[in-house]
Amino acid sequence: MNINISKVCKTLICITFFSLTSCKAQTNSPNILLVLCDDLGYADVGFNGSVDINTPELDKLATNGAKFTSAYVAHPFCGPSRAALLTGRYSQEIGAPFNLHSNSSQNDADNMGVPLKETFMSKALQDAGYYTSAIGKWHVGAAPKYHPNKRGFDNFYGFLGGGHNYFPEKYRKQYEAQKKAGVKEIRDYILPLEHNNKEVRETEYITDALSREAINDIKKAASKKAPFFMYLAYNAPHVPLEAKEEDLKLFSHIKDKDRRTYAAMVYAVDRGMGNIVKALKETNQYENTLIVFLSDNGGNTDKGANNFPLKGRKGDAWEGGYRSPMFFHWPNKIAKGITFNYPVSALDLYPTFVALANTQVPKGKKLSGKNILNHVVNNTEPYKDEMIYCLRYRHGFADVGARKGDWKITRMGNEPWRITNINKDIGEKKNLSGRYPEKLKEMVLETEKWTENFIYPLWFYSAKDEELWSDGRMPQFSETFVIDKLVQPASKK
Ligand code: CA
Repeated sequence: MNINISKVCKTLICITFFSLTSCKAQTNSPNILLVLCDDLGYADVGFNGSVDINTPELDKLATNGAKFTSAYVAHPFCGPSRAALLTGRYSQEIGAPFNLHSNSSQNDADNMGVPLKETFMSKALQDAGYYTSAIGKWHVGAAPKYHPNKRGFDNFYGFLGGGHNYFPEKYRKQYEAQKKAGVKEIRDYILPLEHNNKEVRETEYITDALSREAINDIKKAASKKAPFFMYLAYNAPHVPLEAKEEDLKLFSHIKDKDRRTYAAMVYAVDRGMGNIVKALKETNQYENTLIVFLSDNGGNTDKGANNFPLKGRKGDAWEGGYRSPMFFHWPNKIAKGITFNYPVSALDLYPTFVALANTQVPKGKKLSGKNILNHVVNNTEPYKDEMIYCLRYRHGFADVGARKGDWKITRMGNEPWRITNINKDIGEKKNLSGRYPEKLKEMVLETEKWTENFIYPLWFYSAKDEELWSDGRMPQFSETFVIDKLVQPASKK
């Protein structure tokens, strides 16, 4: 029998090389726990100045790590912000600038989701050898081909739609009654939760259920040789405002009922984070886990949130729409007590995580952000002379916000463009367009150039949106960037 020695050697070399590279990823790379809240206000955690909501566990993590004062998400509401976070690209560049329909999981005609060619960060990390887990809200494609298990998550526990009611004993009754009555499209907020495509009979308050699942998975991950990546997407404190009695009692000093309930919902997240940290410590994973905490967009001030001192709210391009509380906590690498004031974007997390995993950005994948870890460690500016954008399509125009260094330009609706020194005027009170017309012009032009990368939306949230786009570009879109007619003369400022 002839043995092909050369072939055997090649195979052995390949096996050895594969083992070495796998080992490298496993021993050098940290675990990554990405915690996303939903509609959490800028001022609604203790570490960002909340005076009426206690978040002791989050505060401990923030003060023992790096706290970001100017962290921006890529869009001021849920779906597009998450699409951007997971793909590392602005949602307008990948055709996902609108929320998916609320019942897209049940309606074949709404078989929509974030394009598969946009590899999610989870897939890049899974390919690098990470054990990957998504827990909570999805909202980036509910049809089978867009399921978390198809997008790089080994494990998924949660719900596919844009939100969920919190008390199973209440919503299950509604769900079963509607199912019995043959309701065709049952609202996704009351659908049963699932675990890797299998319906589960959840019994706990949803925030507690998600914390429980995170803890179980952290314990499971400890027995694996590979590091873990967990995307823990709490739906709290997004509406409906529903809190546990035991948590509400802690906030009896808050008179406004919505605010009290909202506070108790945030506290439930904090309580969960305390238990998660405990599980990380018990399993000896605490020191080498990077915990990143942020919200998907600004607080909904009509529903209990507080974005002080920022102007605006969820959905708009004022700072309150898309500037989020955020921290990095990682004892092995990040020193305690850092306050990082330079602007950063949620889009930076994808390239940062890929670098931490000692792996490459998937071939052909474009990314809008950058690896910021060394900037955070060394306190250097990641976006020197570069801009961070936010744009929301309204009906027939766009709300736009763009930040460069100390400066922020904003256009809301059909109001004139504004420019603000955001470090001196965080509440965007003064419009300095009369005093700095050239700076305004430069930033507006740069923002307009950014929109050249946009593609036609793959879906629309409403029929009205779709009508407005029927000519291929939203009516009045280019007018969004006209400055001359809109800028108030200096004498009127
Ligand atoms: Ca949201």
